[in-house]
Amino acid sequence: MNGLEIYIHIPFCVKKCDYCDFLSAPADLETKEKYVEALINEIKLNKNKMSEYVVDTVFIGGGTPSLLEENQISKIMSVLRDNCNMSENPEITIECNPGTITESKLWEYKKSGINRISFGLQSANDQELKSIGRIHNYAGFLESYNLARKCGFDNINVDLMSALPGQTLKSYEETLNKVVRLEPEHISAYSLIVEENTLMYDRVKKAQIKGINILPDEESERKMYYLTNNILRSNGYRKYEISNYSKPGKECKHNIGYWQRKEYLGFGIGAASLYKENRYNNISDINKYIEVLTNNIKENSINNVENSSEVENQVNILNSIVKNLQQLTERDRMEEFMFLGLRMMEGVSMEKFERYFGKPYMEVYGKVQKKMEDKRFLINDNGYVKLTEFGIDLSNYVMSEFLF
Ligand code: SF4
Repeated sequence: MNGLEIYIHIPFCVKKCDYCDFLSAPADLETKEKYVEALINEIKLNKNKMSEYVVDTVFIGGGTPSLLEENQISKIMSVLRDNCNMSENPEITIECNPGTITESKLWEYKKSGINRISFGLQSANDQELKSIGRIHNYAGFLESYNLARKCGFDNINVDLMSALPGQTLKSYEETLNKVVRLEPEHISAYSLIVEENTLMYDRVKKAQIKGINILPDEESERKMYYLTNNILRSNGYRKYEISNYSKPGKECKHNIGYWQRKEYLGFGIGAASLYKENRYNNISDINKYIEVLTNNIKENSINNVENSSEVENQVNILNSIVKNLQQLTERDRMEEFMFLGLRMMEGVSMEKFERYFGKPYMEVYGKVQKKMEDKRFLINDNGYVKLTEFGIDLSNYVMSEFLF
């Protein structure tokens, strides 16, 4: 059986961070309960789709999944297990925000088979955390991190951000050093991207009108990127993707699956799927999602796959929460194969490309390869196409060259 990844979206947060454009918002208890009920129904309705696969990674992301009650997370996990073929040793991650977990939640996660925690720290500097509207401070993070270790979690990721308002090379270096001293198994380090329709965007624009740049300039941003490389590498972390570092063997299997175009199903509002060479998203409207997946479902019908009209009804329900369905052409798949694969430091295997598409890599991309090699953005390392350090700096440009 082929492998499958599962993403479960929990769209709730204590409050919206200033830079956030993810699908997340504060919500009352009743909404959370109804959402979990709808989510569980969505998982059950996907039993058929999951039946021919083995699920080897699960990622419960958000939002802030750790805001849910522990019994809600364990219910979601047990319904998932009952409706799919879970592999013997799956990687199961939950995103947690500091200050939203308790010891009893962590024990319950363990019991549910969750074996990886991803903490959104972003910065170890309280002033910087405040400047991006995070709810926690560094001490709060430390408490949550130590609690996770105490409960036996031995695979922890810490998310960091650079290029924050007021951040300096020195303060970023302090953050990196504080975090490596804790020895998490995995560190993700991204630069802040200021998205439209966020508080941060308004603040940056207002300052710009007054002639003030509240963000570190481009040169400092590049220096922060190199600082990340240097400090993490010298502390035993291996960069395996443009923004992701891990101790040997602790790479995030779920994310590697995305970059290698493994199939995945996303459950919950806005969740994306790649299934049988179709890409699609769930709708983002939480009220409609809850309505369709609870009100429209007849009692006892959800597991009835003997009756063809029930099966048709179930398919219709699932179709009504899907948007942006795109059937991928061979060209789409080739483009994705390249621009996702190039994010990985191991690069893209030319031999795998040929096996996958039945055409030699150089026949399809020979011209681009030569052009990028001449500019020293790419190398051919024993049949693996890789970005050079120089190419990583301009990765968006390099990847865009692979679009037809
Ligand atoms: S915790 Fe994450 S998802 Fe929630 S508002 Fe902040 S950045 Fe967005």
